[in-house]
Amino acid sequence: MPHLLDHLDRRLGHWADEQGLPGYRRTQVRKWLFEKRAADWQAMSDLPQKLRQQLAAELPIWTTQIAKHTTAGDGTEKLLLTLAGGGQVECVLLRDGTAEDASRRTICVSSQVGCGMGCVFCASGLDGVDRNLTTGEILEQMLLLQRLLKPKERLSHIVMMGMGEPLANLDNVLAAVGEASREDGLGISPRRITISTVGLPKAIRRLGEVDSRYRLAISLHAPNDELRNQIVPINHKVGITDIMSAADDYYEQSKRRLTFEYVLLAHINDQPEHARQLVRLLSGRHCLLNVIPYNPVEGLPYETPSSGVQRSFRKILEDGGLSVRFRHRKGDKINAACGQLRRSMQPQEEKPLVEIATPSD
Ligand code: SAH
Repeated sequence: MPHLLDHLDRRLGHWADEQGLPGYRRTQVRKWLFEKRAADWQAMSDLPQKLRQQLAAELPIWTTQIAKHTTAGDGTEKLLLTLAGGGQVECVLLRDGTAEDASRRTICVSSQVGCGMGCVFCASGLDGVDRNLTTGEILEQMLLLQRLLKPKERLSHIVMMGMGEPLANLDNVLAAVGEASREDGLGISPRRITISTVGLPKAIRRLGEVDSRYRLAISLHAPNDELRNQIVPINHKVGITDIMSAADDYYEQSKRRLTFEYVLLAHINDQPEHARQLVRLLSGRHCLLNVIPYNPVEGLPYETPSSGVQRSFRKILEDGGLSVRFRHRKGDKINAACGQLRRSMQPQEEKPLVEIATPSD
């Protein structure tokens, strides 16, 4: 059965043409979906009743089942979704406003079932990648998370930092964030939408050519290739030099500050020399370095650095003139880091999950 949220305009257009309906019906449906957070066709009270019944039978809005919905004391909510096309993914709503911006509502969305990049510390990729999500499945996560908000709350940011590698599913990710940024979609400015990547230079270049309005985050995790090859195995095929050059080109196109993410792993990439190398690598670039103390994954041998080590690491970065942010944890009681909840629901040995890094503004 076709999914309404896949090729939304085409499906709505086809349906309106077939029924000989006026154009404003499409506008009405878009408004219900994106603005009024409709639960189903029946809720769309300005559509004729017969039409609503017919649409409910022929064109499903939702294709996923909520397998689990968890809420943490800090307001973080997480959904584990079972997909009609097979597999499970997670997505998260973060109420992570600062004192100046308490109304910040960020959603963290998945792009694939599993992940093929194999970062050694990450739970999402422990079993490899099963498949790409469809545009509809990505958009559905956004709409389901938006429906968790109270009527007065508004979504403000989207980060493609859930399960999967967004740039390995670029077309579907772009179609979904395209809907998110449309005025008659979720209406979220592209500068508040972050696409996070392990660093695939070709795909970064393609993103720059196709649509450079979004914020780009690069998961760096090491300041030199020797170390990065160990932590991020895909690096063997690419290398930091090519990634930085693709990221610089993207910056030229987008003019948006780049974000680099760095998961801090005790005794592995947390030494003073690593901080000094990072300063050399990133100096002169208009960028933010997001340092994420490792969020332990059960069964994996990595550890979170002590707060003393974190402080020393941070001091070298700041003394070196970098803009740095250290991530605090959100929702860790509910396994809010993507991949964690999915694993905990699988019959195998329980494996916790990752930290969610949220964008800078
Ligand atoms: N594949 C993309 C997006 C998903 S991962 C990417 O690599 O950017 C989103 C972020 O969570 C990445 O920076 C990733 O390195 C980080 N992450 C994964 N596992 C983690 C863990 N156990 N602790 C802390 N951060 C983690």
